[in-house]
Amino acid sequence: MKCKRCRHNPAAVDLPSHHAAFCPDCFFVFFKRQVREGIRKYRLLSAGDRVLVCVSGGKDSLVLWDVLMEMGYETEGLYIDLGIEGYSGRSREKVETFARARGKTPIVVELEKEGVPIPEAARCVRMQECSICGTVKRYFFNRVAAEGNFNVVATGHNLDDETARLLGNLIHWQRDHLSRQHPHLPEAGEGLVRKVKPLWRVSEMETAAYGFLKGIDYVTEECPMSRDATSLVYKEALSLIEDKMPGSRIVFYQGFLDDANPVRQAPAGVTRGEDDAANGGTPRPCASCGAPTYSEICAFCRMKERVRRRREGHAEEVSG
Ligand code: SF4
Ligand SMILES: [Zn+2]
Ligand SMILES: [Zn+2]
Repeated sequence: MKCKRCRHNPAAVDLPSHHAAFCPDCFFVFFKRQVREGIRKYRLLSAGDRVLVCVSGGKDSLVLWDVLMEMGYETEGLYIDLGIEGYSGRSREKVETFARARGKTPIVVELEKEGVPIPEAARCVRMQECSICGTVKRYFFNRVAAEGNFNVVATGHNLDDETARLLGNLIHWQRDHLSRQHPHLPEAGEGLVRKVKPLWRVSEMETAAYGFLKGIDYVTEECPMSRDATSLVYKEALSLIEDKMPGSRIVFYQGFLDDANPVRQAPAGVTRGEDDAANGGTPRPCASCGAPTYSEICAFCRMKERVRRRREGHAEEVSG
C-alpha cells in the first residue's frame, strides 16, 4: 500500500480512523499536525511559555517532550522517581538517556528522599497507590513549576487515556470529576500552575508508532502498581468499539469537550478535588510547606507526616 499523502513511498502506519496510511515522514507531519491542532483548539500553549514536561520514561511522555522540542517550545523535563524497586530505576535511565541525547538534563524528584516513596506511603495511609501517586505528582508539578519559573505543566495523556477516564467517570456518574476533565486546566493563582495535555487528539497506537519510528527508547513495562487499574478495562472496551467503528474515540471525547455539553457543567455545591488547580475557591499557603492548598495543611504534608510517624513506630490507624 502506498502512502496516502506523498503517494510514492510505501505506507508504514495504517490509520483506519483517519481513512489513511502514511510513510514514516508523512506520518511525522500528520502526527505533529494533530498535536498542533490539539494545542490550538484550546490554547494549551503559546510561544513564550516555559513548559515543564512531566516524563515517566514511558512512550507518551517522551514522545510529548520530543514533539514539543521539535515544535520549538522552551521545555524542561521533570522525572518523579516513585521509589518502586527496579521499575523506577529503569524508567529513570530511559529518561536520562533520552534527555542526554538532546542536550538536556531532567529535573529529578526522588520520593524516597522526600519521605513518601509510593509503596510505603500506600501501606501507611491505607490508600491505593495510584491515588497517592496522583496527589504527590500534582504537588511536585506545582512546586517544581514555581521553583523553576515554569508557567505551564504538560503531561503525556493521549486520546485513549482521556476517553478511558471519561467512560469511567460516566459509568460512575462522577459529576465533579467530569466537570474537571479537560486538556486545559487553567492556573488558579497562588502557585497552582496551568496544566495541559497536548496529546489529547492522538491515540496510543499513533503515539507508539511515532516513538518507534523516531527511535525513541522508552520503558515498555507497565508500572507494577497498575495491575488492578480499572482504566485498562475501559481502554479495552473502547478498543473494541474503535475496532468496529473507527473514529469513535475522538467523536466521543470531542463531543464531551463541546462547550454546550451539559455533562461537563459542575453540579451546584460540588466539592472539587483537594489542592486542585480547577478548584473554584481561593487557595492559601499550607501551614507546613507553604504550597497552595484549600485546607490548613496540604494533602502531601499530611501524607508525609503519616509516613514519618509510621517510620518512627507511632503508626496511627487513621485514614481519609
Ligand atoms: S500506575 Fe499508579 S502508581 Fe504507577 S505511575 Fe500510574 S498512577 Fe502512579
Ligand atoms: Zn508519504
Ligand atoms: Zn504542605
